[in-house]
Amino acid sequence: MSERIHVGVAWPYANGPLHLGHIAGAYLPADIFARYHRLKGNEVLMVSGSDQHGAPITIRAEQESTTPQAIASRYHQQFLECWERLGISFDLFTTTGTASHARVAQDMFLTLLDRGYVYRDRMLQGYCPKCRRFLPDRYLEGTCPYCSFPKARGDECDACGKPMNPSELGDVHCYICGAPSTFKESEHFFLRLSAFQDRLKAWVGEQTHWRHNTLSTTWKFLDEGLKDRAITRDLGWGIAVPQEGFEDKRIYVWFEAVIGYLSASKEWAESHGGDAAWQAFWQGEAKIFNFIGKDNIFFHTLVWPAMLMGYGGLNLPYDVPANEFLTIEGTKLSTSRNWAVWLPDYLEKYDPDPLRYVLSINMPESRDSDFSWNSFVRRNNDELVATYGNLVHRILTFTYRNFNGAVPSTGELDEQSRGLIGKAEATLSEVDRLLYCCSFREALKQAMSLAQAGNRYLDDQAPWKTIKVDPESSAKSVYTVLSLVSILKTVLYPFLPFSSEKLHTFLGFEGTVADLGWKCTFPVVGQKLREPEPLFAKLDDSVIEVETNRLGHLPG
Ligand SMILES: [Zn+2]
Ligand SMILES: [Zn+2]
Repeated sequence: MSERIHVGVAWPYANGPLHLGHIAGAYLPADIFARYHRLKGNEVLMVSGSDQHGAPITIRAEQESTTPQAIASRYHQQFLECWERLGISFDLFTTTGTASHARVAQDMFLTLLDRGYVYRDRMLQGYCPKCRRFLPDRYLEGTCPYCSFPKARGDECDACGKPMNPSELGDVHCYICGAPSTFKESEHFFLRLSAFQDRLKAWVGEQTHWRHNTLSTTWKFLDEGLKDRAITRDLGWGIAVPQEGFEDKRIYVWFEAVIGYLSASKEWAESHGGDAAWQAFWQGEAKIFNFIGKDNIFFHTLVWPAMLMGYGGLNLPYDVPANEFLTIEGTKLSTSRNWAVWLPDYLEKYDPDPLRYVLSINMPESRDSDFSWNSFVRRNNDELVATYGNLVHRILTFTYRNFNGAVPSTGELDEQSRGLIGKAEATLSEVDRLLYCCSFREALKQAMSLAQAGNRYLDDQAPWKTIKVDPESSAKSVYTVLSLVSILKTVLYPFLPFSSEKLHTFLGFEGTVADLGWKCTFPVVGQKLREPEPLFAKLDDSVIEVETNRLGHLPG
């Protein structure tokens, strides 16, 4: 029976380009998952959008003497191009700047206010006398009260990961100019998170299928006890607070960005059947998955579910597969030090599938993982080109030249050939099971070990030798390997969509891989192949030095 799967992916800040940490952390696993479920014939809705509000964008705009909207639009456009080129297959990638998002966010705010889950109170807000402005939390720096890290920020401590109220920081100063900052009293709205403590505990207790890191982080917050949080800010850029006297304040990005999963679904539904279409995912039988980096766990497993509980009548997340971080050449990624590999740069020079491969085979699912240009080149050349690409290219060119470019007929298969096809069928089931529970790394390893088995079989059978003395035996091994690569293109499609589509065409199939669905598809005897080309390009070792040397250099 088909399932309904909602894939909501973290909303990237539209204040800078995407880098590999974003991709490995959330976008690639979400895309693999969505592609897999579409192949299975499930109803999938994958949404996200640019988070165009928040202080970093206003500060960037000031630095560039332009408007926050201009910054947000520039990066939104760039994000869309990146998704297209990397094959991240959103059903809708919108922004938090739409009228529809503002409406849904304000409705959530007012409903929670009406039910007493949002209340008005006064709080101290950071203020820089030198810059003469209220300082957003992220722009207050000071000593962490929990771990004593001296460069903790007002929204969270980057060292121990604790979310923060800025007034908790010691020796607090302005992050922009370094001057000591003061606090001014200001009236704000608060989310009564403490009221959900027991309900959240009971709910999280049922989520035994969550990843260990998601669960342990969530329990840590629950065990410490949830505190109410301010959900408005002294800021002129963002969604208006729908209350009189709050004209110069805005709804805090963290409160409204998570609402984007719902508002984007509603926006998508406008052109896909109306209200019933989004309701099927949010009120009907459906599973909602949120793909995020580990720094966003708190907001997705506690804050957003609390908002949904308070609002009522909507589905809570079914799973929150949070990834750990990606380091670059063994060092923590840092955008300010330009210690990052930027996605637009990558896509200018290299193909999408090798990156998808390298980030998947080493995905930071349960611990941080590292990206290095050396391992990128090695894995591309030794695994993609030499194992998978070579298997495909050998069998296709051999068949093309020796069997009139068509799938040869074959008598009954021998035990070894039947064994290999059996292994392919078993791999498809095993990868199915692994992808269903978001074990992407292991799923890809299983698929690649099938490609290795195909190479061993081909070397062993050597159809290029038997064709002279025993053409029937040659045809049998050719048919077996063509079947194997035909199954591989399906198994690998969620990871490597571009090369799977190419292989699909080379094998002479019509339409797309997705048309055939998640099953073992065998080429039909007599099916005409297309003239094959290599699936992947070998990379020169000079790539390693050139790219490694670019790391850490600041422009200008
Ligand atoms: Zn200042
Ligand atoms: Zn800390």
